[in-house]
Amino acid sequence: MDCLRGEDLSRFTTIKIGGKADYLLFPSSYGEVKEAILFSKEKDLPLFLLGGGSNTIPGDIGGVVVGLSKLRGMKVISEGDTFYVEVLAGTPLKEVISLSIKENLEGIYKLAGFPATVGGAVAMNAGAFGVEFSNFLKEVLYVSWSGELVRARAEELVFSYRSSPFPKEGIVLSCTLELRKARENVLEDFKKIRRVRKDSQPINQPTSGSTFKNPNGNYAGRLLELVGMKGCRVGNVAFSEKHANFMVNLGGGTFEQVKALVEEAKRRVFEEFGIVLEEEVRLVESCGSDGWKVL
Ligand SMILES: Cc1cc2nc3c(=O)[nH]c(=O)nc-3n(C[C@H](O)[C@H](O)[C@H](O)COP(=O)(O)OP(=O)(O)OC[C@H]3O[C@@H](n4cnc5c(N)ncnc54)[C@H](O)[C@@H]3O)c2cc1C
Repeated sequence: MDCLRGEDLSRFTTIKIGGKADYLLFPSSYGEVKEAILFSKEKDLPLFLLGGGSNTIPGDIGGVVVGLSKLRGMKVISEGDTFYVEVLAGTPLKEVISLSIKENLEGIYKLAGFPATVGGAVAMNAGAFGVEFSNFLKEVLYVSWSGELVRARAEELVFSYRSSPFPKEGIVLSCTLELRKARENVLEDFKKIRRVRKDSQPINQPTSGSTFKNPNGNYAGRLLELVGMKGCRVGNVAFSEKHANFMVNLGGGTFEQVKALVEEAKRRVFEEFGIVLEEEVRLVESCGSDGWKVL
């Protein structure tokens, strides 16, 4: 299995910020995923997972980082109007979306326009324009932290807004999606969604998407705008002028600058509205905050 030592993780995140990992492993099979778990146990090092790095900003986390980009591919079985798509965790979500456009399938195309892997979309229960990834899930195949291969039906797993049982329960290896033919033509709506994203989000700058989850009944972006965070900058990291909830790296931004900007935003929103914003982006300081110490 490919293994990099002391690697700079900024190469692997979409915001192009990241500290160093002691080991960066790229498993390409179930056996190698299991090996990576055993490796971290033997070295007594915490383990952290990285899909497309589009919702993750790691500091100097040390430990073992497991990149899933080599677990790639999909198998499609169609039965009448239903397509069952079995897709490996490291496959870019956009490949599934391309298939859904080609076959005119319902709903999942609304998740177009962000650089997730399928495993990251399961773990984050990614969502947009009224749909969530879990809406299309039939089952998930994952490797538990003790190394067993587990097959779970979607209804056995609890998903909610940007939340899933993963990676707490283990490493997603693949999932099966159930996608239905749409009655109407989805292409126009797909194009509209891409346009909306292009017009309202800084998609051409290094970013990790939404920084905070929307609090109940409100929008994080609106609250941030009201407290003057749009365009607010710490060092080389700023909240975008285009979208107040998107942080962008202006070039050479650091993890410490990200943290300072996030704290400033939370402070202002709390002082003005009494609302505690919760991070959507995974700021990984040490493997304590979001990595999973494998005992
Ligand atoms: C321009 C832009 C727009 C965005 N718009 C949206 C949006 O509209 N809606 C939305 O929901 N998100 C959005 N995002 C955020 C992001 O793309 C999603 O959260 C996405 O699902 C993350 O996938 P990833 O593969 O990059 O995950 P990563 O950032 O690599 O990982 C995210 C989390 O998932 C875990 N994880 C990754 N792979 C696995 C696996 N195989 N098994 C178990 N756990 C795993 C990681 O440990 C980490 O905790 C946007 C991001 C960008 C850059």
